[in-house]
Amino acid sequence: MQVLHDCPSCHRHIADDVLQKYLLVCPECGFHHRINASQRIEQLCDSGSFKEFSGELCSKNPIELDGYTEKLLQNQQKSAMNEAVVTGTCTIEKHQAVLAVMSFDFMGGSMGSVVGEKITQAMFQGALNNIPVIICTASGGARMQEGIFSLMQMAKTASAAALLEQTKVPLFIVLTHPTTGGVTASFAMLGDVILAEPGALIGFAGPRVIEGTIGQKLPEGFQRAEFQLAKGFVDIIVPRDKLRNQLSFLIRTHKSNLGETYEQDA
Ligand SMILES: [Zn+2]
Repeated sequence: MQVLHDCPSCHRHIADDVLQKYLLVCPECGFHHRINASQRIEQLCDSGSFKEFSGELCSKNPIELDGYTEKLLQNQQKSAMNEAVVTGTCTIEKHQAVLAVMSFDFMGGSMGSVVGEKITQAMFQGALNNIPVIICTASGGARMQEGIFSLMQMAKTASAAALLEQTKVPLFIVLTHPTTGGVTASFAMLGDVILAEPGALIGFAGPRVIEGTIGQKLPEGFQRAEFQLAKGFVDIIVPRDKLRNQLSFLIRTHKSNLGETYEQDA
């Protein structure tokens, strides 16, 4: 039997195979459905080129919060992931890259110690081997269940981004729906080029919190990718079917900054 999806934006019913063909973008209205890390990797990387690293890292319960260990287990089973980010090396249209992909499916893509560590290790890999780093974000922010340890990841990942800057290895960020909180407030805004998917919510605090604080009505489209592009927080909005080609173009055009190692690998 044909599976139909109700588009949350235009409310048309779209057949599953059609939606898959369009990379989970509604062919009627262009709404970008959320995708998980393995779907993103499959869409971006040359077939079979993705080699995961740091996959063995699993979260502990650093502040011994009741129920957190169980919650981690449930999310591992539900998402078939160890943590909210997958990192590895790959090629994109034959160009080498270090790729980190966050998944909202795992505890809302929240950043705890392991997410911070894996993002940091990915940036170190890029810096050490002269390979551009691409991070696709999807996150509700810092993981409250790890208390202060989650907030420390903001400084750690920002320092790793500074190392990339010093070694002149480019960092490309792809903001996907939603990217908020401590992730926006750290590495997600530190890319040399910041890309976003159409309609993605990008911000720190959510619109309701801000409205409540300032006591004013917020403008139409507030915190959407298009709004952030107009305000200068985003460099380019790229529809999903153009993303792979756009990243390949960015890697290619930033080659002049990179040393011999990378030239040979490409
Ligand atoms: Zn639609």
